[in-house]
Amino acid sequence: PLVDERYDYLFKLLVVGDSAVGKTSLLQQFCFERFSLDQKSTIGVEFYTKTIAIADQVVKCQCWDTAGQERYRSVTPSFYRGALGVVIVYDSTFVKSFENVQFWLNQIQQYCPSAKLLLLSNKTDLPDLRAVPLDVAQTYAEEQNLAFVEASAKDLTSVTSAFTTLTSLILADK
Ligand code: GDP
Ligand code: MG
Repeated sequence: PLVDERYDYLFKLLVVGDSAVGKTSLLQQFCFERFSLDQKSTIGVEFYTKTIAIADQVVKCQCWDTAGQERYRSVTPSFYRGALGVVIVYDSTFVKSFENVQFWLNQIQQYCPSAKLLLLSNKTDLPDLRAVPLDVAQTYAEEQNLAFVEASAKDLTSVTSAFTTLTSLILADK
C-alpha cells in the first residue's frame, strides 16, 4: 500500500570493489535478508531498494550494484553520478582486493567526490582465512578518512549496521 512508500529521503548508495569480494551478497542480505553461496556473478539488476528508519527519519536507500563490469574496470561515470554514499568492499581473506581499494577510491574521487564513504572488510565469518590484518586496514581507513567496519554477508546484523552507519553519515549533513 502507498502508505508504506512514504519516506523522508531517497539516497543513492553504491557498492564497489573487486569482483567476488561479496558486493552482490551484501546487497542481497541488506535488501532481502538472504545469503547464497552460489551467488550469480552477474544478475543484471541495476539497483535494489531498502527503506530504513534512523532516529525519526525514514530513508529509502537505492543501492546500486555494478553487475559485473568491475571485472573489466569499466564501471561507467553514470553509475557514480548522484551517489551520496559508497561502500567500498574488500575480501578480508584476499590481499589483492584490499590493495585495489585505492583504485576504487580514485574512481570515487573522480566521479562522486562528495559522497560519504565506508570501507567494509567482508567475509569476516572466515577468521582462519584472514589475510588482511585488522590494524593495517584500520590504519589505512584513518589515513584516507574512511569510516571502517567489519562484516559478513552471511550476517544480517553486521550488514544492516554497515549500511545504517553510511546512511547516518549522509543524514548528518542534511
Ligand atoms: P561480487 O562479485 O563482489 O558481487 O561477489 P558475490 O556477492 O558474487 O560473492 C562472491 C562469492 O563470495 C560468492 O560465492 C558468495 O557466496 C561469497 N561470499 C560473499 N560474501 C561472503 C561472506 O561474507 N562470507 C563468505 N563465507 N562468503 C561470501
Ligand atoms: Mg556481483
